[in-house]
Amino acid sequence: MPTPPAHPRSLASLAVHAGRDDLADLGVHAMPIDLSTTNPLPSIELGRDAYDAFASGQRPTPGMSSVYRRAWNPTVARFEDGLAALEAHDPFGPGVEAEAVAFATGMAATTAVLLSRVAAGLPHVVAVRPLYGGTDALLASGLLGTQVDYVDARGVAAAVTERTGLVVMETPCNPTLELRDIADVVRQAGDVPVMVDNTFATPVLQRPLLHGAAYVVHSATKYIGGHGDAMGGVVVTSPERAVELRPIRTITGGVLDPWSAYLLHRGLATLPVRVLAQQETAGRVARWLTAQPGVTRVFYPGLEGGDPEGLIGRQMSGPGAMVAFELAGGFGSAEHVCGALALITHAVSLGGVDTLIEHPAALTHRVVAEEAQPGSGVLRMSIGLESADDLITDLGRALAHA
Ligand SMILES: *Cc1c(COP(=O)(O)O)cnc(C)c1O
Repeated sequence: MPTPPAHPRSLASLAVHAGRDDLADLGVHAMPIDLSTTNPLPSIELGRDAYDAFASGQRPTPGMSSVYRRAWNPTVARFEDGLAALEAHDPFGPGVEAEAVAFATGMAATTAVLLSRVAAGLPHVVAVRPLYGGTDALLASGLLGTQVDYVDARGVAAAVTERTGLVVMETPCNPTLELRDIADVVRQAGDVPVMVDNTFATPVLQRPLLHGAAYVVHSATKYIGGHGDAMGGVVVTSPERAVELRPIRTITGGVLDPWSAYLLHRGLATLPVRVLAQQETAGRVARWLTAQPGVTRVFYPGLEGGDPEGLIGRQMSGPGAMVAFELAGGFGSAEHVCGALALITHAVSLGGVDTLIEHPAALTHRVVAEEAQPGSGVLRMSIGLESADDLITDLGRALAHA
């Protein structure tokens, strides 16, 4: 571990430099991609020690063999160190101690957290709706041995039992973009760890560990990669909990591949500028939408009334770059708009450099129970880096005939 700089770095500087501490010693400027699936063992004895270290969730000591890619990969580890530094960052203090454990996808990351709680003998999960459709469906399936109770953000304390191992929440919520008070949920959860899916906010706008969350989960496929060409998931947590997660990753095999790790790590460098620029444009598009006939509701935390608990400024530094809106014409109008757009792409997923639009009830939230379904006239947009004027022109043309 290098000695920390005397002067704490800003998030923007960490985004560019974190996880790259060993590059100068390696004599390289870009991050090397280590594709080895197996690694030379200096001796049987040292190989065995390395095996034992990985099986118990330890990080390798200097000079130790990585043994096998499913146990450890240095390219993945650099990305983990980079993201952990961002999630642990506190501009007003020393920050928190955190380690990241990366996975093949966001769902693999959530799966590992759930399995670690089941393994601890605490299979009951309290889930604050609304959640990402895949997370909601995974919990409802009980596939991993969890038992779920769905609650709203005020019902967490009443739902916690002696067997509760985890509280799961998301903010901003998907797809309605309501904000939830992380510290309040943490307080209600008492001793039970709280997992926050931070995919929509990114560490640029919100760092849940500073508000008491035990686990932060990301679909790195979204903003972190930022270009729609790499999948990944990450859990950021305390070093003690990371030790529990790594053996689960090794055993279940949902590892991040080094190519994707490289792309996701490269994405971190531009994450702050992308998110802030996309947020700026999202605000303009959201305000414009509020004045359009045929649009009955705009869901965006930055609009008047969009943040009733005053969480922007306290928990989240800005309203983000996701915008949803409801059309008076219901499903038929939504279908028309998706088909009539020229610049904006009709596709699921989010967080990339180009603007995407999708119909949550028919697509991403199809798998959730009826009572948690968004309305049939609701469309969700992930605002990209195009000019706000061009996006507004495209939307205006599509809405004119909706
Ligand atoms: C996409 C997404 C996930 C799942 O991530 P994958 O990388 O697709 O497995 C989880 N949570 C949220 C909020 C997402 O948007």
